[in-house]
Amino acid sequence: MTTIDAVGLQTVMARIDSAARAAGRADRISLLAVSKKQPASAIRTLAGFDQKAFGENYVQEAIAKQAELVDLALEWHMIGPLQSNKCREVAEHFDWLHSLDRIKLIAPLARYRESTQAPLSVLIQVNIDDEASKSGCDPEAVGALADAIAEKPSAMRLRGLMAIPAPDPDFVRRQRAFARMHEVFNVLRRNHPTIDTLSMGMSDDFELAIAEGATLVRIGTLLFGPRR
Ligand SMILES: *Cc1c(COP(=O)(O)O)cnc(C)c1O
Repeated sequence: MTTIDAVGLQTVMARIDSAARAAGRADRISLLAVSKKQPASAIRTLAGFDQKAFGENYVQEAIAKQAELVDLALEWHMIGPLQSNKCREVAEHFDWLHSLDRIKLIAPLARYRESTQAPLSVLIQVNIDDEASKSGCDPEAVGALADAIAEKPSAMRLRGLMAIPAPDPDFVRRQRAFARMHEVFNVLRRNHPTIDTLSMGMSDDFELAIAEGATLVRIGTLLFGPRR
């Protein structure tokens, strides 16, 4: 049994819209449905309500679900930490990667992206404030990573940045982390004017992320209910 229904999706989309209006935003904010640890049947249900973009953290799990859902035209986003030995599968099976955080991932991703595929859309994951986390690069490393991605135009296309700020009960500290990400994004856009995506905000904090400039929010629990 799934807990998903059209009303749940509409409620999330309405909250996204009102957060955008409150922030005076005129651009459209994308919803990524995070389906990790949810069955393929739950993805199929949401796809039936016209939700097409899904985020997964585990490559093997994602590929198994993609095989069950080949009849649907979905957009797959890899959002979990990426190990180098998974670059080939990510290049072959995903449309987006949100978690590029080191130079050495770029060559294998480019090598395995087939020329028949569209370039992989890539976000650089930035460790904006969470010293305990090993994922994400330093904000100072973003420029060099972006330039290296831009050197592989037939295999990958730099779309912007992703962050998972440390869960912090202090509202102001969380807000500042999102605001700092927006600054890093604006600085990067000076040299890479075509970037269009700032991926930040999850079930508990997406409205705050939208207020601070997110263009894409990644929502799991609020759409699908608790994970298995
Ligand atoms: C699991 C996950 C999400 C979704 O989290 P919820 O709190 O369930 O909305 C978003 N982004 C990343 C990177 C995740 O790993």
